[in-house]
Amino acid sequence: MKSKVVIVGAGVSGLFAAYKLLEAGIGVDLYDHSSGVGKKFLVAGKGGLNLTHSEERDEFIKNYEGHEELFSSLISEFSPDDLISFCKGLSVETFVGSSGRVFPKELTAAHMLRNWLDALRQYSNFNLFLNHRLVSLQKVDEAFNLDFLSLESKKEISISSNIVVMGLGGKSWKKTGSDGSWVKLINRLGLEISPFLSMNCGYEAKWPDSLKAMLDHDPLKNVSIFGKKGELMLTPFGVEGGLIYAFSKKIQKEIIDNGEFALEIDLRPDSSFDELKNSLSNKRLKDSRGNQLRKSLKLTKVESLLLKETLSKEHYFSDEKVACSLKSFKITLFKARPIDEAISSSGGIKFSEVSDSLESKKHLGLYFMGEMLDWDAPTGGYLFQGCFSSAYRVVKSILS
Ligand SMILES: Cc1cc2nc3c(=O)[nH]c(=O)nc-3n(C[C@H](O)[C@H](O)[C@H](O)COP(=O)(O)OP(=O)(O)OC[C@H]3O[C@@H](n4cnc5c(N)ncnc54)[C@H](O)[C@@H]3O)c2cc1C
Repeated sequence: MKSKVVIVGAGVSGLFAAYKLLEAGIGVDLYDHSSGVGKKFLVAGKGGLNLTHSEERDEFIKNYEGHEELFSSLISEFSPDDLISFCKGLSVETFVGSSGRVFPKELTAAHMLRNWLDALRQYSNFNLFLNHRLVSLQKVDEAFNLDFLSLESKKEISISSNIVVMGLGGKSWKKTGSDGSWVKLINRLGLEISPFLSMNCGYEAKWPDSLKAMLDHDPLKNVSIFGKKGELMLTPFGVEGGLIYAFSKKIQKEIIDNGEFALEIDLRPDSSFDELKNSLSNKRLKDSRGNQLRKSLKLTKVESLLLKETLSKEHYFSDEKVACSLKSFKITLFKARPIDEAISSSGGIKFSEVSDSLESKKHLGLYFMGEMLDWDAPTGGYLFQGCFSSAYRVVKSILS
């Protein structure tokens, strides 16, 4: 009964589940509607492939807010160290960056993917079907009937399998194949799905037109939000970047509930209000106000611009108020950027629909993994780790 498994979705989850099943002697038919495997993995590689994170387990788990218990068990079972060992097995050495994030040392995402595919192709019981879109999924007696549309021949192909594993991804970056179109297929099976939302994304701010015209993607470095230090970018539409992504869930929730989010940025986390005010007391009276602020407070070009274009005249000319703004610069965010631009999406199959083995409670033999489940995490390697660990759990469940 377990001699062959059908996996749909050849992203990291699908490829890793295939690897582990083949290793255990189970044949795999892997289907994907894209023309290549791991397209999102390749896109992630362009921005520095952050595979996982090296921090302590308790800190790590906090990144799966709302699902800490499940992810604690998933990540104990397949940990960041296990992921690093898996990479090593593909001849991909890793290193820990200064932020604790784990990256490949030399090889690119494309190299890693090539080694990964080569490893899968060593098995004669591995078959890869690209350009095959899943268009229907039904349970008939004990088996699942799957219909695929071949995007090359335009013909429909029907197959049947007792065990089906789905790793169809979320809804961001649809050109990588994860377009969320699977929702209607899964809805027909009577499973509950939370709507997709942009996560790890930029947010729109009501900038004055004068500022909008002058911004590109200008970094604010070593700033802090809710006590967390990092970097963000000011863009013509608003804000984005790592520090913003860390609070994506909070910002998104507040915008949905209240229509806006009052972002407060500490532009000088290493200086107190009094220190900033004192610096301003040494200003040269002959200088223009712009130069007084720039020199006394060591403002960057974009910080100067931000203060000049957003503060009222009275505020701009008050040392006390400027110092206050530097410690708590307020930006009202009112909208998340479109999901297609987001690094990840929240939403997907509700955890109430699956058992701890990530098997559908309503349709035994059907498993879900990766971003198509209803969880999310900030950037930092937590997304890949969550995908790998959930795929590992699925394989373990199938083999048990
Ligand atoms: C720009 C960018 C940078 C990122 N950087 C990082 C990073 O550095 N670190 C990190 O941890 N995460 C990062 N991520 C997130 C990470 O890439 C994803 O969380 C992860 O790839 C999701 O894996 P998955 O297997 O669940 O789904 P995916 O990788 O999205 O794979 C889903 C697969 O299913 C296929 N599919 C979908 N529907 C169908 C259908 N109907 N029929 C057949 N096939 C279908 C798709 O073609 C796709 O191949 C980044 C994402 C982006 C967009």
